[in-house]
Amino acid sequence: MIDDRREVDLQVSDRPTVERVAADLGLKGEGKHYFCPGCQPTAAGTPEMVIKGGQFHCFRCDTQGDLVGLVKLARNCDLQAAIDWLGKEREQPRP
Ligand SMILES: [Zn+2]
Repeated sequence: MIDDRREVDLQVSDRPTVERVAADLGLKGEGKHYFCPGCQPTAAGTPEMVIKGGQFHCFRCDTQGDLVGLVKLARNCDLQAAIDWLGKEREQPRP
């Protein structure tokens, strides 16, 4: 399970994939900053969350973690569901 998680994180950490994952999660933002699903669910004000190198970090509420953790937060699902969801994202053909 832990290895699965790390593997998925590595495979979705490149920029185009991160942007697609963020879009598919319904995250909105400006440039490389996104509204935090934890503390900015209404997407008001300034987006405070960055996703970089397979990790996310919100500068407002200081929530951070890997992309699997971000999927859990944004979709409010459990770990296995997040891994499965990211796995499906990864399999989609690139535009
Ligand atoms: Zn936050």
